[in-house]
Amino acid sequence: MLSEPAFSDAVLAWYDQHGRNDLPWQHPRTPYRVWVSEIMLQQTQVATVIGYFERFMATFPDVHALAAADVDQVLHLWTGLGYYARARNLHKAARQLVEEHGGDFPETVEEVATLPGIGRSTAGAILAQSRGVRAPILDGNVKRVLARLHAVPGWPGKKPVENRLWELAERHTPDARLADYTQAVMDLGATLCTRRPDCPRCPVIHLCQAHADGNPQDYPGRKPAKDKPVRATRMLILQDNQGRVWLEPRPPSGIWGGLWCFPQLDASPDNPEDARDDALERRGLTAGHQENLPGFRHTFSHFHLDIEPRLIRVDSHGEAVQDAEGRWVSPADPGELGLAAPVKKLLDQLHGPRQRGLL
Ligand code: SF4
Repeated sequence: MLSEPAFSDAVLAWYDQHGRNDLPWQHPRTPYRVWVSEIMLQQTQVATVIGYFERFMATFPDVHALAAADVDQVLHLWTGLGYYARARNLHKAARQLVEEHGGDFPETVEEVATLPGIGRSTAGAILAQSRGVRAPILDGNVKRVLARLHAVPGWPGKKPVENRLWELAERHTPDARLADYTQAVMDLGATLCTRRPDCPRCPVIHLCQAHADGNPQDYPGRKPAKDKPVRATRMLILQDNQGRVWLEPRPPSGIWGGLWCFPQLDASPDNPEDARDDALERRGLTAGHQENLPGFRHTFSHFHLDIEPRLIRVDSHGEAVQDAEGRWVSPADPGELGLAAPVKKLLDQLHGPRQRGLL
């Protein structure tokens, strides 16, 4: 595919003026040095990587030295960089390069991408920067730039969105100056087209659709929230003949830790009647009239809780448990208790017309 020069011309002109030409892996720009730098840069800022890179090269100046090393030596030099799988893969890939390719890097992106820890984008970055191969790259920075440039909707973790971004990356990759272009487009994403883009200083502002639309920060699309699991609980609203209801403190940790709540039962016990009668007996109560109140959903950060409230009129002969395990409160004035939000909601309902109808 022929490249479209408007974008790459502008990015290269910007790079000629502002680009970094003094990074240690640029001198000399061999596949081995670019590879090690790309792996280090995957989760780490340039400024931090420079020292690690220089120490790594001083100990393992070429792929043969790395392949011959003990993995513990490699991990030791990686200490502080984190994500140690990167170091283990680097070591494994070095051995594979020596055993299968005599220590030379393969010629094609497809072959390089078979090495442990190297995906299509890193393979492209290595070959483009060290050998001038026309290979597109699509790391996180470039995804952000291209998603904004073309206002590509959707989360890049979705295959169709990623495929669209690869098409665009391919289309914008120039036919010459591949090493500079690759460094330049990564730098653009890392320095100007960041999470909070500095559009006025951007060399491609005149081409950028998201900027024209006024919403660069909407791109790339965010990862969709996972469907939350749904749990269920039955809340027993025990109401005595004065209209008071029974609240108990929750255990100090867990949901609603330390807040006051109605007694709860698993919403689907094998024997719901027995479980309920048990719960009443333990509190010195016997059940009278009962009815289900409308259920509702309460949403926590990591799950939904479907609440099935059941109002039970009780005869109280359990003053002995007063204060020890719970408290009878007026729905209109429960006192200075910390209340779980659904409990507050139910008390408000009871305090309204329903309570007057029941009394
Ligand atoms: S104009 Fe703004 S949003 Fe568009 S590519 Fe440049 S920095 Fe990113």
